[in-house]
Amino acid sequence: MKSIDSYLDNIVNQKMLVVFPHPDDESVMAGGIIQRAMRRGFKVTVLTLTEGSRGKIHINGKGRSVSEIRRQEMAEAMSRLGVMDWVMWKFDDGKLKRTKKWRERLTTFIIDTHPGVVVTYDLSGVTGHPDHISASLVVLRVLRKMTGVYMLWVSFDGRMKEKIVDKRAAKYLHKPTLELNMTILEARRKWRAVFAHRSQALGGFLRSSWWLLMFWSRKEWYSEAKFEAKQRYKFVNFKI
Ligand SMILES: [Zn+2]
Repeated sequence: MKSIDSYLDNIVNQKMLVVFPHPDDESVMAGGIIQRAMRRGFKVTVLTLTEGSRGKIHINGKGRSVSEIRRQEMAEAMSRLGVMDWVMWKFDDGKLKRTKKWRERLTTFIIDTHPGVVVTYDLSGVTGHPDHISASLVVLRVLRKMTGVYMLWVSFDGRMKEKIVDKRAAKYLHKPTLELNMTILEARRKWRAVFAHRSQALGGFLRSSWWLLMFWSRKEWYSEAKFEAKQRYKFVNFKI
């Protein structure tokens, strides 16, 4: 497996766009690469398409709406990662597969941002969530028409794959070709950013705490998207 550093160093246009449907996807999936890219001189923009308003809230919201809670958590996560430039849209959480408006807006946004590299899900959607697959499809379609832009798909290996990748999505997940080894400090920031999304009780999903993850989960994996190849994907039956 190649190192992500030499891959990033080959990219001339040092502008990274990180696109995910839900707040928390960005930190769980890409909290490491976001930091590494910034350290290597990239300007990083993080975009989430929804406010995650259908996410179950596992904390006492004290009168705040789900959107408010998740926006505040996102702000905290971004501050923990050191990201200044982040945007959260308000498209319908859980309904991206069936809705259209966001597709046009995302297309324009990508073109206007003019990134050198885009980070997002591959067509497995990793957890198999239909929003993940829908977003990935649109990003792929847009980038196919652009030139000089790279695309990195999130991937997994080993123990983290067992924890995070849905069994039904696994056969569509592209094997990793690039590896990022986080320093303890990077891993600490990443997992603290993940756990800033407190209402999501991700400790349960990850079956661990941030300070344990910071020691044993210090890798991220990516695959280089192939624009020409025909991609297989399938929307699995997913309970949102
Ligand atoms: Zn998600």
